[in-house]
Amino acid sequence: MTISNTEIPCSCDVLVIGGGPAGSSVAALLARDGIDVVLLEKALHPRPQVGESLIPHFWKYADLTGATPLIESEGFVAKAGGITVWNGKIHRIAFSEFGFTRPALHVERDVFDDLLLRHAVSSGARVYQQIAVKEVNFSSEARPLVHYLDKRGDKAGEGRIACRYVIDASGNGAVLAGQFGSKRLIDTRMRFLSLWGYFRNSRYVGADGKSHAPEDIGAIKPVTFVTSFEDGWIWHIAMRKLTSVGVVLHTDRARGMNGSEREQFFLETCRKTPYIDRLLDAAEYQEGLYCERPDYSYYSTRLCGENFYLLGDAASFVDPIYSHGVLNAFYNAAMAAVAVRESLRDPARRARHAQLCENRMRQFYGFSRALALGEFGGDGVDADLVKHLMRSVPRRELDLMLAASYMSERAGNFHRLIEDAGLQHTEAPDKIHFMSRLEL
Ligand SMILES: Cc1cc2nc3c(=O)[nH]c(=O)nc-3n(C[C@H](O)[C@H](O)[C@H](O)COP(=O)(O)OP(=O)(O)OC[C@H]3O[C@@H](n4cnc5c(N)ncnc54)[C@H](O)[C@@H]3O)c2cc1C
Repeated sequence: MTISNTEIPCSCDVLVIGGGPAGSSVAALLARDGIDVVLLEKALHPRPQVGESLIPHFWKYADLTGATPLIESEGFVAKAGGITVWNGKIHRIAFSEFGFTRPALHVERDVFDDLLLRHAVSSGARVYQQIAVKEVNFSSEARPLVHYLDKRGDKAGEGRIACRYVIDASGNGAVLAGQFGSKRLIDTRMRFLSLWGYFRNSRYVGADGKSHAPEDIGAIKPVTFVTSFEDGWIWHIAMRKLTSVGVVLHTDRARGMNGSEREQFFLETCRKTPYIDRLLDAAEYQEGLYCERPDYSYYSTRLCGENFYLLGDAASFVDPIYSHGVLNAFYNAAMAAVAVRESLRDPARRARHAQLCENRMRQFYGFSRALALGEFGGDGVDADLVKHLMRSVPRRELDLMLAASYMSERAGNFHRLIEDAGLQHTEAPDKIHFMSRLEL
């Protein structure tokens, strides 16, 4: 089991809240540097999570934390690229054309996240599951005091841990942003709801633009398939046994529906949307796995302080369309690990490290937001920071995101920023292929 079997300590140097990709990664990075890290996770892994599509640049963060061999040996589905049908236009991209040599993946997130959490333990972090953090008391002059609820059957009760730094990686539970009152929803035009479920025996879309039987997935690589429909868009992500299918729409569209009506709406949308209907024709819907998440786009106006850091979804999440969520979690974890490590070495400079880290996180948030939402400005985004990031990311990563941006019709601001950053000579548009039809 992914858990330390010692008693929960009363103090530590770094306390991490949450064991998703952000929390596990920052815990592994710090523990590998010999720093005393305790991670508290509310659930018991493996626990379900959405977000199964990973884009190829995630590997550099797996290399950084040392998790690469574990991920490689798990045998997740390798995907070749993406195909989208957006307002009738069909586009295809292949990751290999951008120079990526390692595959992007479709991962079962319960397995993937458990693997990362186990990696944090083997890196030296002390991990305790079924422990929910309730709040963090910053009033003590000495150290933040973390209050938790121990939900383990035999040990149920409450406790406290004093730490030098608290890192909130609690996902959309957003413990610190809730406590600070710093969580802001993206403006009402961009408020979306996602409904998703899982199917067995779905056909999938291969890199050749044809549909394939589920048993071919090892031989013919799938793509992440996305299609728009009259109220929003749908993803289709084929994994080893199950296929994740999700519907994204404006929250207003489902207003007034109760939970079972929304599930029915989800199923009807899947059954009547061209291409998705054919992929799911002989598939069996998995009762009991249906989920939904309203208002998933938000950001926190406070990200880093002298003794706290907010990472991953606990800091911000924009939109699933470009599979930037897990990447953002990894990126934030890498930035925060440097800032916390350096602050522990030289506490006099901790405010400076926090500010630098916050700027990096805002850069990445702004980049994702410009790409996914089109609406740009206000809302916690600094265009100059984003342009700086655009100039410094490896060219193949920028090219991939630029090519992908042509698949939807929302990325006008992203293109403007690329131009403002002096990067207009990119060859990315040549790597997006138009298709006249799909043989599904
Ligand atoms: C509809 C939808 C589709 C998505 N699709 C994709 C995709 O295809 N690709 C992609 O990259 N991203 C996708 N994402 C985003 C992705 O799911 C998240 O960005 C990613 O999981 C963030 O990782 P994290 O570690 O920050 O948070 P999480 O994965 O949410 O982990 C947070 C952890 O903290 C724990 N926790 C919560 N509260 C507490 C507490 N009080 N005390 C202790 N522990 C606590 C939770 O149990 C959880 O294990 C999608 C998101 C949505 C909403």
